[in-house]
Amino acid sequence: MTAPQDNRTSWSDAAPVPFWLDTPDRPPARPALAGDLTTDLAVVGGGFTGLWTALMAKERDPACDVVLIEAGRIAGEATGRNGGFCSASLTHGEANGRDRWPDEYDQLHRLGMENLDEIAATIERYGIDCDFRRTGELAVATRPHELADYDSSAPDFLDAEALRREVDSPTYLGGTWDREGTAMLDPARLAWGLAAAAEAAGVVIVEHTPVRDLTAHGDGTTLVTGTGSVTARRVALATNAFPSLLKRLRFHTVPVYDYVLMTEPLTDDQLASIGWQHRQGLSDSGNQFHYYRITADNRILWGGYDAIYHFGRRIGPKYDHRPQTYATLAANFFETFPQLSGLQFSHHWGGVIDTCTRFCAFFGTARDGAVAYATGYTGLGVGASRFGANVMLDLLSGEETERTRLEMVRSKPLPFPPEPFAWIGIQITTWSLKRADRTGRRNLWLRLLDRFGLGFDS
Ligand SMILES: Cc1cc2nc3c(=O)[nH]c(=O)nc-3n(C[C@H](O)[C@H](O)[C@H](O)COP(=O)(O)OP(=O)(O)OC[C@H]3O[C@@H](n4cnc5c(N)ncnc54)[C@H](O)[C@@H]3O)c2cc1C
Repeated sequence: MTAPQDNRTSWSDAAPVPFWLDTPDRPPARPALAGDLTTDLAVVGGGFTGLWTALMAKERDPACDVVLIEAGRIAGEATGRNGGFCSASLTHGEANGRDRWPDEYDQLHRLGMENLDEIAATIERYGIDCDFRRTGELAVATRPHELADYDSSAPDFLDAEALRREVDSPTYLGGTWDREGTAMLDPARLAWGLAAAAEAAGVVIVEHTPVRDLTAHGDGTTLVTGTGSVTARRVALATNAFPSLLKRLRFHTVPVYDYVLMTEPLTDDQLASIGWQHRQGLSDSGNQFHYYRITADNRILWGGYDAIYHFGRRIGPKYDHRPQTYATLAANFFETFPQLSGLQFSHHWGGVIDTCTRFCAFFGTARDGAVAYATGYTGLGVGASRFGANVMLDLLSGEETERTRLEMVRSKPLPFPPEPFAWIGIQITTWSLKRADRTGRRNLWLRLLDRFGLGFDS
């Protein structure tokens, strides 16, 4: 048996790149913008939100000219770095949705399930090879006070024994299996497939082209870049955690870093030692939670736990790695699966998410309805980004739809305060959440935030 000491260095030789992007199948970069273009719709951002917006704009109206402008690479940020949990939830989980929109929640749930069905149908229609599997998700309690939050009489409840027949960890006390509401997929391949489908439909995509500014231009908006400009009748902003091109939104989200380890492929014996025949996604139930899943080639992706905010809303490649978090993640991994002691991690990486105070996306328009935005997914945007794209297209069309009538779509979260208050508030909240995980009790600060419907999550 390998000594636990070895497990501490299990990640030190891992490649510092997102596993999903580390493949010879990654498409080459498209050329940057060169010169000045005019178009009907300009989409800023080549993650899921931007790609769905561009593709569905063409599906709604094939005659609409669409240009998508990406600062770096398609799927280079959160979209190519995530866990690949494609959830039906539009509200960062049922509890958050029911709490905020009790009268609307059933409708939000239905719309979320329809959204997930339509993602599946799109993947099928365009033949996108992204290992999409609707295996569902197991939510597990690993501490007694977490178990108390589960309804053991619910039909989807599994006790410790039943859970361990699915996935064998000595830490599990009980949990639920939501069989329909989550699919697992390879996010980069989905994004590349959406980009290819959009191009086949006539969308022009440019990469390595940061948009620096939006200026009003006659009856359009000009997107200013270092190598040219795009003047568009309508603009969709899909820039996620990055500073918004609309200054009024800069306080509505904070960029938060989330980190991931990926193991080497498991041997048949290792896989047999944990079971996992139904290949569900898993998450544990603390405020600081892990999410983990198995890949097509039987690796385990293990991410989450820490959610790191840098003073001043800073974003940059130097935050893409965090050795302290990798060490914590590795230790927690082997505590969850002691039978995999000695397994090595092949990849580690981080990525930035757009946390807002209500934990799920918000939407709106600017400049007399010519510019729309969708942001604030707070770490659950793989599925919800398609809904966000549809909302933006609805808003830009000026027509009222079932989506635009939703209170969830019409309301906005409270902004975060300016520095140093944002940083101080987030540090106090993070400290309190860690403490609540240990004790099972929410302190005065958390109860105060709860009362105002505020918080910090990933
Ligand atoms: C480590 C990690 C794990 C996650 N796990 C999950 C998960 O399992 N399930 C889930 O549902 N969600 C998960 N998420 C969140 C999910 O990945 C995101 O919510 C989703 O990908 C958001 O897509 P997006 O297109 O809005 O943003 P992004 O993918 O961030 O795309 C925004 C794009 O806009 C570009 N951009 C920004 N500013 C400009 C500009 N001025 N000009 C041009 N381009 C610009 C950026 O370069 C970027 O490519 C995770 C996120 C991370 C980081």
